[in-house]
Amino acid sequence: MATTTFNKKTLGLESAEPAVTPPPVPPNTTFAKKPKLPSRKSKKRDIPEGLWTKCPKCGNMVFDKELDENLKVCPRCQHHFTIGARERIHSLVETCTFEEMDASMTSMDVLTFTGVASYTSKLEDYQRSTGMKDAVLTGICKIGEHRAALGVMDFGFLGGSMGSVVGEKLARLIEKATEKTLPLIIISTSGGARMYEGMFSLMQMAKTCAALAYHTKARLPYISVLTHPTTAGVMASYASVGDLIIAEPGAMIGFAGPRVIKDTTQAELPPGFQTAEFLLDHGLIDAIVSRKELKPKLIEYLNYMGNGRG
Ligand SMILES: [Zn+2]
Repeated sequence: MATTTFNKKTLGLESAEPAVTPPPVPPNTTFAKKPKLPSRKSKKRDIPEGLWTKCPKCGNMVFDKELDENLKVCPRCQHHFTIGARERIHSLVETCTFEEMDASMTSMDVLTFTGVASYTSKLEDYQRSTGMKDAVLTGICKIGEHRAALGVMDFGFLGGSMGSVVGEKLARLIEKATEKTLPLIIISTSGGARMYEGMFSLMQMAKTCAALAYHTKARLPYISVLTHPTTAGVMASYASVGDLIIAEPGAMIGFAGPRVIKDTTQAELPPGFQTAEFLLDHGLIDAIVSRKELKPKLIEYLNYMGNGRG
């Protein structure tokens, strides 16, 4: 059976001439620069970014403005998103009463640590992206009628990890609270000690707890607020020794991760393990308070505990 095949040659396309011949280029011509055109890589660019966020719990798309107005809590299912330290402070303290302490304290790269990137470059990146010098903000403020010492951690800065600066700022805050006979509130969120600082980060556990011991000795109240996630070295030091320990709904709280515990104990972990709800049932924390209720609840607790002088 014979088959007929066509190719360019048989169709005579190969020798096609351009329809318009370009004019001859005069000698010594300088070309003007190409005009800059706005880059339009894809149609996606036409949709403004960062307007909607998908809730990981209920799957609904939440309008960012609505999320911000709701203190980063999903209006559909009450899932608590991560909130920055400054936003948190803004939601808790009376207007213009937060006097920040040690605002310019920054970490040093004592070990000249280098992994995928150097510790110094990581610090610079996070300082640029968060506008913070390190993972905690501390200061004296007014909440309701109460003057209080407040420390707020930010998970957005290197996973809220505790290095020398976090430990030192908190230790100074606690010491200031003791000196001024003020109640202390620390809002924690952390992946643990900062590996870039090795042993120096672990030493912060003892330092902060020692300062807290003097605060307790002065009969001053300390409220520890655990938010998602509060783990490892932070949970094993100042976060777990509050006179009152409260947590946000659904927060993951623990020391080692569930997989490590499962491998070590060779046992099945109970459902809801390491959640705030599970820990409330088992007596490790005293209450679960939603973000929107936090301020009135803190005032209520401070009213009850007083300034601790009694
Ligand atoms: Zn939701």
